[in-house]
Amino acid sequence: MNTQVKIENPVKNGKVRKKDKWGGGQYGASRGKRQHFGLDITANPGQDILSPIEGKIIRISYPYANDLKFTGLLINGSGAHTGIEVKIFYLSPAPGVINKSVTPGEKIGNAQALTTKYPGITNHVHIEIKRHGVQVDPKPLINNIF
Ligand SMILES: [Zn+2]
Repeated sequence: MNTQVKIENPVKNGKVRKKDKWGGGQYGASRGKRQHFGLDITANPGQDILSPIEGKIIRISYPYANDLKFTGLLINGSGAHTGIEVKIFYLSPAPGVINKSVTPGEKIGNAQALTTKYPGITNHVHIEIKRHGVQVDPKPLINNIF
């Protein structure tokens, strides 16, 4: 895989979540004693969420073991994105996407509302990327994000 390969922004016009009372959206942001090893991209509840890579949707993933109404997807890259694994949280999967092969920009779900769990938070999707098994900052890889 070319290390310069880019991925698509999963949210049309989505931006990096700015700091609110729950923290900032950038990779490595503080979460109290922990760190944020993903990137938050602003999304309106219900907004279409797009696959950032070419690959196969492996399974649903759950950000909270004790609150299964929040869901996400695990995508395994292929083609130009071989070696990339994407986890994306806070979307309701589109019907029939599990085990589906997807291309960059293809709709995979709709953004969920987070304000019921985190009052006052900026609604967003959370994306984590592993490249050859190593967690990396998604932002430098994403086209058209600010
Ligand atoms: Zn996040």
